[in-house]
Amino acid sequence: MDYVSTRNKKLTVTAAKAIATGIAPDGGLYCPTEIPKLTAEDFAALCAKDYRGRSADILGRFLTDFTAEELEQYAARAYADEKFGGPDTAPLVGLGEGRYVLELWHGPTCAFKDMALQMLPHLLTASLRKTGETRTACILVATSGDTGKAALDGFADVEGTKIMVYYPVDGVSTIQKLQMVTQKGGNVQVCAIRGNFDDAQSAVKKIFTDKASIEKLDRQGMTLSSANSINWGRLAPQIAYYVSAYCDLVNRGEIRQGDAINVCVPTGNFGNILAAYIAGEMGVPIAKLICASNENNVLTDFFTSGGTYNRVRPFHTTISPSMDILISSNLERLLFLTSGYNDTMTAGLMAQLSESGSYTVPADVFARIGEKFDAGCCDDTQTKQTIAQLLRDKQYLCDTHTAVAVRVYEDYRARTGDRTPTVIASTASPFKFCQSVISALGAEAAGDGTELFEQLHELTGAPVPAPLAALAGMQPRFDLVIDREEILGTVDLLNKI
Ligand SMILES: *Cc1c(COP(=O)(O)O)cnc(C)c1O
Repeated sequence: MDYVSTRNKKLTVTAAKAIATGIAPDGGLYCPTEIPKLTAEDFAALCAKDYRGRSADILGRFLTDFTAEELEQYAARAYADEKFGGPDTAPLVGLGEGRYVLELWHGPTCAFKDMALQMLPHLLTASLRKTGETRTACILVATSGDTGKAALDGFADVEGTKIMVYYPVDGVSTIQKLQMVTQKGGNVQVCAIRGNFDDAQSAVKKIFTDKASIEKLDRQGMTLSSANSINWGRLAPQIAYYVSAYCDLVNRGEIRQGDAINVCVPTGNFGNILAAYIAGEMGVPIAKLICASNENNVLTDFFTSGGTYNRVRPFHTTISPSMDILISSNLERLLFLTSGYNDTMTAGLMAQLSESGSYTVPADVFARIGEKFDAGCCDDTQTKQTIAQLLRDKQYLCDTHTAVAVRVYEDYRARTGDRTPTVIASTASPFKFCQSVISALGAEAAGDGTELFEQLHELTGAPVPAPLAALAGMQPRFDLVIDREEILGTVDLLNKI
């Protein structure tokens, strides 16, 4: 199976090349030229496998230049019991009357990013080998909080790689920051940027297109790659957990094979929900994809306005910081896929976005998008109410991002009367956002760091995840803070790690 740039279909590469480079040279995102379809027999076989087996199976359909043995080996390592606290890699928790929470945060950094970033280092190092790349791969990551730590954990001391993470200095929680600046490993570097996530993401993209930096790195035996969801190797592993959740529902007798489900996803960069869309295109019977946003509701407006994306609006810092994003990169892939791989249209819309900050999708393309997607948003007050209500009524504790999805789903359900069984993606452990969660529960947070783990545990009885408990007492290793104009200068740091 080949991959093409969303901005130029003539630019064809293998899966390994797409993963090794991360982003197409024209700035487009790599997409597979077709979406493989699952038959009834495929579903039966998938339902009989465990998470690792399902993951290797789904990846194999997209990454045709990898062998089944390779992918099975990677899945066994990436989703090992020690890393995910047992064999149930992505537990599905029923909340009653057709609501199911898909917990994607049982990995080593307690956010859903682990589902892809424990796999990506295996895919990336193999891709470097398969493409004959001998230079050291320098992974640059812009993070709204969770990707940074998950990428650091995945790539720490992985041979042939270095990793540099940029995070917005005031845009992450105290715990998220502590997780990143205490990262161990001889090939890691962490840098704070004054500004928000969009500033960090744009600054990092600048390095990818800066010829002088790229040439300099090349002379020093280094090449750039990305661990953000613009990299197909980051997105592909995420498709598997939607297929897996469907199998779990069938295996438990909650639905029968072929029955429709909805999926609701708390969304920022549009990677997670795009993975659900692709699972649907593969044949998972997904009726509606519900896109949930916080006050940064650029996507809600996109879906409810009939296809106008306008990022020219105030940026809000919220209690769900990993969704504080106004430029949702992966929407580009959705436009490409739903327009019948129209690269000219996609390139044109992306040019308009970077020039004027907005674009409107042609009506016929939006008609296809509107059929599949619904959307909604909520503010911090509603997010907090939802956390308190869920704990009171269902004895279920969730984090601030998951709460946005639960709230938006309940609004959708009330508005439409749709009772289709729905999988709600739960994207982080509540202990990553203690301060906001404690305050949502009506208590006063006694600090803002690791001292809050015990407080949240006492309030709710929920166990503190071991990787977070281990943060207490760890020493910060990185304290670099830069202005975004200084980003190109940080490239020299790669030579020192
Ligand atoms: C990254 C993240 C999101 C948003 O996911 P996208 O794939 O960027 O849409 C939501 N919640 C949490 C906790 C995250 O870390």
